Amino acid sequence: MLPDFTILRPRAVTDACALLAEHGTDAAAYAGGTELLLAMKLGQAAPRYLVDLKDVPGLDTLGVRGDALRIGALVTHRQLELSAEVGAVLPALVELERQLANPRIRSSGTVGGNLASGRPHSDLATFLIAAEATVSTVSATDPPRTIDAAELMVAPFETVLAPDELVVAVQVPVPPPGTTLAHERFILVERPAVTVTVRLETAEGVVTGARVVAGAATPIPTELPGAADALLGLPVDGGPEAVGPAGAAAAAQVTVAAGIDEDYARHLVSVLVRRAAGTALANLIP
Ligand SMILES: Cc1cc2nc3c(=O)[nH]c(=O)nc-3n(C[C@H](O)[C@H](O)[C@H](O)COP(=O)(O)OP(=O)(O)OC[C@H]3O[C@@H](n4cnc5c(N)ncnc54)[C@H](O)[C@@H]3O)c2cc1C
Repeated sequence: MLPDFTILRPRAVTDACALLAEHGTDAAAYAGGTELLLAMKLGQAAPRYLVDLKDVPGLDTLGVRGDALRIGALVTHRQLELSAEVGAVLPALVELERQLANPRIRSSGTVGGNLASGRPHSDLATFLIAAEATVSTVSATDPPRTIDAAELMVAPFETVLAPDELVVAVQVPVPPPGTTLAHERFILVERPAVTVTVRLETAEGVVTGARVVAGAATPIPTELPGAADALLGLPVDGGPEAVGPAGAAAAAQVTVAAGIDEDYARHLVSVLVRRAAGTALANLIP
């Protein structure tokens, strides 16, 4: 059973922030409700006021503006999955969304809710850090700010967001020619056990820049610079063996979250880094 609550329906993002500020710990932002209502049913949260964001205009924009894809906080996983515009610039994101959770969660769950939850098991957070995305926020008290996706989560289930601060949008740079991303995940039950995204930049057939991020088995989604370094200088047609050292470096460097079998997690991270790097390289072969 859900505890009693009152739904508040602001019509502007500033009003939503003001309601969060006014009611403090008695209030929570409410988007798709897939995390929040679950937490309330399990007795892990009991906000008396749900500040419903669904009628707030401007939070549902989705499209390429200039050199970035802008994803409003209320955009659902399903909208991303079905967007031809997203598929044209970030096909790996569409592929990620196709695999995320199940159709019910994808239809209701939003990008803002996924990131604000601060869950380590977030495919999206892993991907957005590798993609060098930024997160725009608005609060009742402070000026709007733009946060690197890599800086948003500080601990499991903990973000830098203030209680009266809302995610309004995410900006993902459109990869220029010669740059590609690939995402891999390993899942046993409901949520991913390991997530990995690799971003590669190339010039004249050689990797000139790399980012490797692992999540779910880590306390928070985290960059693995040793694995990224091992990808630098590889020829795009180097074949599957070429990415072996990156997998080994990832296994050696990753910090495994408490309560997870460390050897198994390192092995999985290594496999997924090799797979993602192999896919990213294959994307670049004309
Ligand atoms: C069974 C299950 C399987 C899942 N599998 C995956 C998976 O495979 N990969 C993956 O990445 N994720 C997975 N998820 C997570 C899923 O993506 C999130 O539940 C969803 O995106 C949350 O969005 P929501 O709109 O429902 O958030 P809500 O439940 O409405 O809110 C979640 C939290 O974020 C806050 N919030 C909501 N919107 C904002 C905002 N704009 N600004 C600030 N705070 C806000 C709320 O106050 C609340 O604390 C899974 C979830 C479930 C329940």
